[in-house]
Amino acid sequence: MLRQVAEGVLIHQSEFCQSNAVVVHGQEGVLLIDPGVLGDEMTDLASDLRELGQPVVAGFSTHPHWDHLLWHARLGAAPRYGTARCAAFVRAQLSDARAKARIAEQLIPPDIAGQVSLDLLGLIAGLPARTARIPWDGPEVRIIEHQGHAPGHAALLIGERGVLVAGDMLSDVLIPMLDLNDTADPVEDYLAALRLLEGVAGEVDVLVPGHGSVGGADQVHARIDQDRAYVHALRHAHVPGDPRVSPSARYGQDWLPGVHARQLQRLARKTERDGTPG
Ligand SMILES: [Zn+2]
Repeated sequence: MLRQVAEGVLIHQSEFCQSNAVVVHGQEGVLLIDPGVLGDEMTDLASDLRELGQPVVAGFSTHPHWDHLLWHARLGAAPRYGTARCAAFVRAQLSDARAKARIAEQLIPPDIAGQVSLDLLGLIAGLPARTARIPWDGPEVRIIEHQGHAPGHAALLIGERGVLVAGDMLSDVLIPMLDLNDTADPVEDYLAALRLLEGVAGEVDVLVPGHGSVGGADQVHARIDQDRAYVHALRHAHVPGDPRVSPSARYGQDWLPGVHARQLQRLARKTERDGTPG
């Protein structure tokens, strides 16, 4: 079911990990950002849009993780975009013939595996580096690219609607998950990304994270502060006082403490190896 979060901006929340697909109304149809995860949910979304008489005219994936790269044939054949780095990363991954099998085996939780089709995974075109806006005929959607969570990750600012689509940043249910592959200073990358988002916070009335609850203007700084505190705790190997990894976490993601422990471990190993504080 689609829920309006601002004028001309609607979301569809998945049962999987509170993933938010975002629909933005344009002149001739809609822009669909991170379309969703479960096949049934995407077909529901496609029929909702058909009922509204709104074809999908463009798609966008905020970053190259499987749960943001899916698509369903019923959503049509509109061009799908990502940043140049995001698309290059996806292309490199999918050039390995075993890539989809590996995603299916290692990344998709077994309880939903039967409901996720990887057929149209990652068929995105990279927008040239430093592209400032998504090319389409709707309200201006500004691309705020940064490192930290994944290569070529983009948050999107729909300025005239006051909406920030944050991708996998600023979630109230998931802790910051750092990109620890091939990055010299993952913690600094993440902090830089938070600063970048802080720079546009004044323009945001509605915050839509890739996973979790939609927040109002007051949530933008609160979540930036919470994520920064978590990343600082990680850097100094402190136990974070973060409600998202406490046993009583509201959403009960029981795998999060494990993610936290792995991040700590890998940062410690990295510091040992190349001497930089993580
Ligand atoms: Zn992600």
